Amino acid sequence: MKKALLGIGLLGSVGALVALQATRRGGGYYSSNNSTRVVVLGAGFGGLAAARTLARNRDGLDLDVLLVDRANFHLFTPILYQVATGGVEPDNVTHPVRYATQADGFRFQESNVQKISVEDKCVYTDDGPIYYDYLVVALGATNNFFGLASAEENSFTLKTISDGIELRNHIIDAFERAEVEQDPEVRRRLLTFVIVGAGPTGVELAASLRDLASHVLLKEYPGIDPGEVRVVLVEALDRILLALDDQLRQNAMKTLQSKGVEVLLNTPVADVEKGGVRIKDGSFIPSETVVWTAGVKANPLVADLPGEKGRDGRVRVNDFMQLPDHPEIYVIGDCAMYFMPGEQRPLPPNAPVAIAGGKTAAINIIHTLKNEPLEPLKYKYQGELVSLGKNNAVANIMGIKFSGFIGWLVWRAVYLYKLEGFKNKASVLVDWLFGVFDRRETSKLPVTPSKVPSESVAE
Ligand SMILES: Cc1cc2nc3c(=O)[nH]c(=O)nc-3n(C[C@H](O)[C@H](O)[C@H](O)COP(=O)(O)OP(=O)(O)OC[C@H]3O[C@@H](n4cnc5c(N)ncnc54)[C@H](O)[C@@H]3O)c2cc1C
Repeated sequence: MKKALLGIGLLGSVGALVALQATRRGGGYYSSNNSTRVVVLGAGFGGLAAARTLARNRDGLDLDVLLVDRANFHLFTPILYQVATGGVEPDNVTHPVRYATQADGFRFQESNVQKISVEDKCVYTDDGPIYYDYLVVALGATNNFFGLASAEENSFTLKTISDGIELRNHIIDAFERAEVEQDPEVRRRLLTFVIVGAGPTGVELAASLRDLASHVLLKEYPGIDPGEVRVVLVEALDRILLALDDQLRQNAMKTLQSKGVEVLLNTPVADVEKGGVRIKDGSFIPSETVVWTAGVKANPLVADLPGEKGRDGRVRVNDFMQLPDHPEIYVIGDCAMYFMPGEQRPLPPNAPVAIAGGKTAAINIIHTLKNEPLEPLKYKYQGELVSLGKNNAVANIMGIKFSGFIGWLVWRAVYLYKLEGFKNKASVLVDWLFGVFDRRETSKLPVTPSKVPSESVAE
């Protein structure tokens, strides 16, 4: 109880701080026929940072900044797993891009990008061509199934807001169906949840799903025996959370096991079949719910861009985030492969790297137009944060390590601060306060497609 009160107090203080931070400066966009046209593709972490930096620093320049995305919102991915496990409402992690256009002064167009033509200096979309003078490509990543077609066909994924809602509905549905099911084999399949890939997303999802089952659903579904519910985290390598140091990794492992998550290491998946997962050694885990969190690769749209690509499809960029042979094109975030000077491995695909890339690209476009020297990427490693469910997380912030309850407070404070929009911050804070008392959203939301006739359906 003490912990709960301390948690509420601290989260409340963070809430007050973020309210102060919500005061934004005004803007208003302008453009003329002679404007230099900068087109930014993707309103994720990198694209939004680029569009804002361009709009806020264009004094003295006739610059038209157009941000294009197939969805009209920015998605805050770090807490998407909580949408899937009922801890946070879906629209509390999405932020309308048009709020940002008003506050910061750039234009937005909701369109699905089909192709980038370097020769024509044009982006082809479902709604027609968009010509550019400068282009910032920030189209993010897609799931990497490493060529395993059965995994692509039969797994759930966690990348878009639709994925989060779909997974939540499916988990609740599995409990509904299991409670009325008589066949023990079918019940077992329904109540076994397999997560493939023990990186941060897989670990956070497994811990939160285990908490959802233990603290919420088993109370709501009295016909289900606790021993029937399994959450299995399957990892091909010999350890979880590769990016963490040994001490934090061990803490994370102990926490997962104490919650009852079954962690299977050295367990490469051979196939995801309808009704379960086939492991390379031939064994089979029966399950109606397999979630694939084993990796990402660059958006396939960047495959046509000229230049060197990594195995994960990322495009190599120079110190200024430009394509080496096309300085008018900047590639950032999960689409970009960038090696810091002296490093053998490229920067990882994560939000801070995308934001730093977006700012660098924007500032360098401004420098180019003002005939000033360009600036190399400024990126400083900030650390790792991994939530381990209720009252628990591991964090390494600038070399200072936190685990357990303090880690959990640090995790929550950091992400509340980083979340877009004051309304979202306040709403997520409320969701989290209810979470302290094991209140989660367990309704199955009916989701129907948009009635607007369009070929482009925002994911
Ligand atoms: C579940 C999950 C949890 C994560 N947790 C963390 C975390 O805790 N910390 C962290 O640092 N990173 C985390 N990441 C990684 C982080 O989200 C990415 O590294 C980051 O979003 C990359 O930013 P970006 O701008 O390159 O791409 P994104 O933020 O993915 O944005 C890409 C944008 O492009 C748009 N787009 C894509 N295709 C098209 C198209 N054809 N036409 C028009 N628009 C298109 C998308 O709608 C999207 O808005 C997480 C990712 C996921 C999926």
